[in-house]
Amino acid sequence: PLVLGIETSCDETGVGIVRGHTLLADAVASSVEQHARFGGVVPEVASRAHLEAMVPTIQRACDTAGVSLRDVDAIAVTHGPGLAGALLVGVASAKALALSLGKPIYGVNHLAAHVAVDQLEHGPLPEPSLALLVSGGHSSLLKVTDITGHDGGVDPLGATIDDAAGEAFDKVARLLGLPFPGGPHIDRAAREGNQVAIDFPRGLTSRRDLERHRFDFSFSGLKTAVARWVEARERSGEPVPVADVAASFQEAVCDVLVRKALDAAASEGIEDLMIGGGVAANSRLRVLAEERASKLGIRVRVPRPGLCTDNGAMVAALGATMVERGRTPSPLDLPADSSLPVTEVLAG
Ligand code: ATP
Ligand code: MG
Ligand code: FE
Repeated sequence: PLVLGIETSCDETGVGIVRGHTLLADAVASSVEQHARFGGVVPEVASRAHLEAMVPTIQRACDTAGVSLRDVDAIAVTHGPGLAGALLVGVASAKALALSLGKPIYGVNHLAAHVAVDQLEHGPLPEPSLALLVSGGHSSLLKVTDITGHDGGVDPLGATIDDAAGEAFDKVARLLGLPFPGGPHIDRAAREGNQVAIDFPRGLTSRRDLERHRFDFSFSGLKTAVARWVEARERSGEPVPVADVAASFQEAVCDVLVRKALDAAASEGIEDLMIGGGVAANSRLRVLAEERASKLGIRVRVPRPGLCTDNGAMVAALGATMVERGRTPSPLDLPADSSLPVTEVLAG
């Protein structure tokens, strides 16, 4: 099926077009530069930017794919979780398209779409797969037996109990004077640094914590440890070794993420690990996961960095899977749901 997907949950206006598992177009307009001076996404600014970017981005996607809107078999749209006002722009646009074209609409979960996108690059997702979902607002381990969410097909084994991994990257970057969003800047700075220079804490890995939080994450203690370390340096009048701090912080995050993901896969007897979400773009996370997984005979699938961060192709990819599996489309009055849980993959 030819599916057009719309993504507006945060600051990226994304429109993707896929035919089955083949990516035809992935147009993204970002308002990130308008938010940079605030050090975080400003919801009202994001909503307005989506409004302005929506029609041109749809047009650009159709041009790139060489299709006309009339050719589209179904519309998919992120209906949660995310910023309420931002989501509304995407949902309203998708409804207008579905209604005017007389085509079905699928309201899908943004987090499940971060997982489904890998099908565009590596083919059908093996089920079951273990998904490590690491983004700006979420960090979870998911057992995926059906990516359309049918019959409890997306089952959370654990999640962060405080900050998300991406949030930790952004906060530590800010502390080091690096621009927003910080993830890519930490990644770059870390390449010049020594990852064993500073021994930062690995959250929820003590024997006691593991009893209650074996597959959960915690990054707020790590963030505080980095802040303390940097403050102590500044007080002593010595320069802050930004590259070493970035590399050591990044190592602490990636070490815990990979360790727990592989532990979860092993304990569930799952041989395929998928890593998705913006933080999956991290170069160290990709290398470390591959290195450790291969020793355990676990296969790792990570989409290329451009498909890890928010985009419309991921929504189209999940929509196409809905169509292929004959899932019932969403009602035309489907709502935007800013706190949609990951288990609810398709709006019913
Ligand atoms: P969610 O998906 O939870 O709703 P979001 O959509 O805002 O959150 P994504 O776009 O999926 O988040 O991911 C953005 C996050 O990914 C930011 O925190 C950003 O710093 C982080 N990120 C992007 N690239 C990298 C990288 N190379 N290394 C580490 N983090 C990165
Ligand atoms: Mg973004
Ligand atoms: Fe996201």
